[in-house]
Amino acid sequence: MTNCNENQYLDAYVDGELPAADRERFEAHLTICAACAREVARLRQLSSLFTAYRPTLPADALDRLHDAVAQTWDLGVIRLARRISAVAASVVLFGSLYLTLFQTEQATASLPVWEQSAVSGTLPATESADAEPQVQLAQWIVSDLSTGR
Ligand SMILES: [Zn+2]
Repeated sequence: MTNCNENQYLDAYVDGELPAADRERFEAHLTICAACAREVARLRQLSSLFTAYRPTLPADALDRLHDAVAQTWDLGVIRLARRISAVAASVVLFGSLYLTLFQTEQATASLPVWEQSAVSGTLPATESADAEPQVQLAQWIVSDLSTGR
């Protein structure tokens, strides 16, 4: 940068953004100010370097980059699907829990024995108390269904 008062126009001049009147005035200044003229030359050289710079990647590097993006995308979709499944499972779980509690409170008396047992998780007393609980449950289900209630 220069210490010249006109140096505030340097960037706009090099970028071609000065209004015509300001540009003409600044070009007149450049003919008498070596510092600003040097700065303009330096900025134009930088600008041409950036313009000429065309980053290129080898084909195999582009392939790796493409694969990495594709894998990241796949992982994101899978993660999203898992999250949706967890939410759906929660809805089903709490929904069935609510229905179970609701049924237990409201309609226990009218439910068949095997369904009361399944909802409440307790086994009513039977004459074969030494039998395994799962066997007892199966026996109720069979006997309850066989009565045709
Ligand atoms: Zn100057």
